[in-house]
Amino acid sequence: MNKHRFKSLTVCLDMYGCPNRCKHCWIGHSPNGNLTKEDLINVAKLFRPYTDSLTIYDWYREPDYHDNYKELWDLSHQLSDINQEHFELISVYRIVRDKEYVKWLSSLGLKSAQLTLFGTEEKTDLYTGRKHAYIDILNAIEILLDHHISPRIQVFVNKDNLDNLTQLEKVLNGLDLEKRCQAFKGEYAFFIHQGSCDGENEKNYAIRLTPNDIKKIPQKFLSDAMRYQRKKSVEELFGKTEAVLYDELKNDASTCSFVSDNPVFYIDQNWNVYPNVASIEPIWKLGNLKKDGIEKVLESYQESKSVAQNIRLNTPLSRIVQEEGNPMGEKLFEKEDYIELISNRYCRKFLL
Ligand code: SF4
Repeated sequence: MNKHRFKSLTVCLDMYGCPNRCKHCWIGHSPNGNLTKEDLINVAKLFRPYTDSLTIYDWYREPDYHDNYKELWDLSHQLSDINQEHFELISVYRIVRDKEYVKWLSSLGLKSAQLTLFGTEEKTDLYTGRKHAYIDILNAIEILLDHHISPRIQVFVNKDNLDNLTQLEKVLNGLDLEKRCQAFKGEYAFFIHQGSCDGENEKNYAIRLTPNDIKKIPQKFLSDAMRYQRKKSVEELFGKTEAVLYDELKNDASTCSFVSDNPVFYIDQNWNVYPNVASIEPIWKLGNLKKDGIEKVLESYQESKSVAQNIRLNTPLSRIVQEEGNPMGEKLFEKEDYIELISNRYCRKFLL
């Protein structure tokens, strides 16, 4: 009997990385890898003894990025106990370069796909970190509609792209997406938010929205987002100011365990393992599969040995907030995102 047993285990291997370098990327940037099918098979073999319900993914950044995406999809299914469906996340990079891709997505029964905009061309290319990203997205929308897959539009907003949103609204109105999806009984969806404040997006702290910025967001974006995100108010969409959150949390003595019976692990191209909690960075590292071995990695997870897990388990939130928070802060956050931001800042101080 293994010491470490889990009800289920999900393991995601970053085999090839991502064509983009988004400025909001919560996972964080790292070089692209070039792992092999044997690597994926070996990862499955390593985790297999620890659960009766294993799910293997060949990516945690851009899905289907590599040319052998169909083969990797089949292989991931063979290595898994659960027959997973394709997420709404797709490779925009591939869909405009590979005619077979959308047919394949359709054959899997995909009904909607997420596309991320930061404004029109200049802002979307800048924030996606790739020239022609905007044009690719517009082309991807048409390809998806032609194959009766509904676009799900996600808009990231900050102080820097606010002035570009009216122009984006005109573009989206011109595309008439809601009606075109209805024509094939599809369901269009629209989301707007700032994203969490970890990974690359932590660097955008200075340009997070403050309450006065909300009125600059097109009214239609706000009403559509409230409808699709099922929020009752703008406050629910964008959260509270840092000052309000500071006040709510400054006496909060709670601590937090991230240990679960159904963990998800991210493995980078250098075999470092992280829990799927926050960005891929040293404070969350559980160990290295090659150097430390699987037993040590799982022990590190279950005994909360990573720097961040250990601190969150043993340090009251009040102390973290009082050290890292700004009691006068006007920037807007969802509560969980704010806790993540100040906790990551606090934990980094303890990294040896
Ligand atoms: S947010 Fe997604 S698409 Fe953008 S860099 Fe990160 S993993 Fe790639």
